[in-house]
Amino acid sequence: MSTTIEAHTQEAFAAAVAQQRAAEHPTVPHVVDGEELFTGALLRREDPSHPGLTVSACHDAPAELVTRAIAASRRAQREWRRVPLAERVERVRRAIPFVEARLDEWAVRVALETGKPHAGARGEGAEVLEILRFYTRYAAAPKSFEDVRETDPSGAANDSVLKPYGVFGVITPFNYPIVQAAGPTVGALLAGNGVVIKTSHHGPWSGHAVHELCQAMDLPTGLVNVVHGADEPGRALAASDVDGISFTGSVAVGQSIVRAFAASAYYRPVIAEMGGKNPVVVTDTADLELAADGIVFSAFDLSGQKCSALSRVLVTPGARDRLVDLVEDRVRELKASDPIDADAFSGPVISTESITRYERVLAAARAQDFRITTGTVADGDGYFVPATVVSGVPADHDLATVEHFLPLLTISEVATFEEGLRVANATDMGLTAGVYTGELEEARRFLDEIEAGCVDVNVPGHATTGWWPGPQTFGGWKGSGTTGKQTLGKWYFQQFARQQARKVS
Ligand code: GLU
Repeated sequence: MSTTIEAHTQEAFAAAVAQQRAAEHPTVPHVVDGEELFTGALLRREDPSHPGLTVSACHDAPAELVTRAIAASRRAQREWRRVPLAERVERVRRAIPFVEARLDEWAVRVALETGKPHAGARGEGAEVLEILRFYTRYAAAPKSFEDVRETDPSGAANDSVLKPYGVFGVITPFNYPIVQAAGPTVGALLAGNGVVIKTSHHGPWSGHAVHELCQAMDLPTGLVNVVHGADEPGRALAASDVDGISFTGSVAVGQSIVRAFAASAYYRPVIAEMGGKNPVVVTDTADLELAADGIVFSAFDLSGQKCSALSRVLVTPGARDRLVDLVEDRVRELKASDPIDADAFSGPVISTESITRYERVLAAARAQDFRITTGTVADGDGYFVPATVVSGVPADHDLATVEHFLPLLTISEVATFEEGLRVANATDMGLTAGVYTGELEEARRFLDEIEAGCVDVNVPGHATTGWWPGPQTFGGWKGSGTTGKQTLGKWYFQQFARQQARKVS
């Protein structure tokens, strides 16, 4: 399955994608206790840009395989948890040169399975690199995991250490098939846990990259296991005795895992990052060109299939008409196409279900006579959905309140900045949010009162997206996340560990 592809440029990337399309597709094995297995019904992944062309295949892991994977990980974790933190950090760091050499190769599989254009597809490996660098740097910093030892008046030595839970299940989404598997895996491993990863059935070959990078770490056999499949392995993990789960995906599935875990005999962590209905507020005093650029990128990059994507604009009356014009002008220029097409702004959506959802939502918009402007799509039968902006939508209409996970943006008028802020918060979600304003006081109030984990103020190029490992931690409030502690933040690792206070005389 390993090729050496140099695809730094769009041209080389397109050639490498075309070459892989013509080659035989891989069938990706489960890896359980160090063994490659092909158990369960065969699932084929079709190229979303060219349905009918199988680009990878995997097997739908039966529940029993998940049980075996957890048992193997528990055995190996008994060894791993005794490995000193400094050595765990050193082992995890071994993956850095491995990943550096694979950015182009991984970009090809991501493009084939998920339809991401070059920048986003290559960005998967690049983001994993930052994850590895940041996490290992942070974990290696004094006191990240171990508290200072003190002596109490009785002479007993006191200390408090962070110890792993055991084995974490990592359930991953299709939109960041490598990144969202690698982040929690690295966090769990550094904290001393074992891991069972369940990849997305839309991107098993991409998800498998995390197994490859873990191999570069020389971990005990069975510590990290990877199972593929549709719903069954995820359900089996959620119903298992695993010690914690990291989940990235929809609110409905995330909440079902939280409920399943809440029913167990004792607390086990569910570190979940779920959906968003992310708003941007634009006021009369905003730089509207800047706002339009940020809005269009954040709404339509990755065809709107990001948890962080912008889906609703709340604009005050004096800015409304010009902002709508600026956004529409930009949207008409956007093309959804095969990632090998140099003109592709975005690729296809992930499945036919997404197309059906788009058609349903668009029919509802048409029925209301809302103003609709779209970009273009490539010819052919790929799952291409045009970037679509619907304006004049009342802010409380379903179109503007339900997460669609599509390239679909609504623009609603609000009377004032204050009303915009109130409407922005009138949702059960709270992942990302943005504001464009020329008033410092409004910017301050937005930062103070917006209920969201990630907030952008007058940011060029991004209204709500673009959260990158390192300085920009990522995570949601309210229905968008369970913990309020963010990926790549300084409190992230500790979620994979529990504290033990000790007095030793
Ligand atoms: N890191 C991505 C961004 O900020 C979002 C990840 C996600 O949507 O899951 O654009």
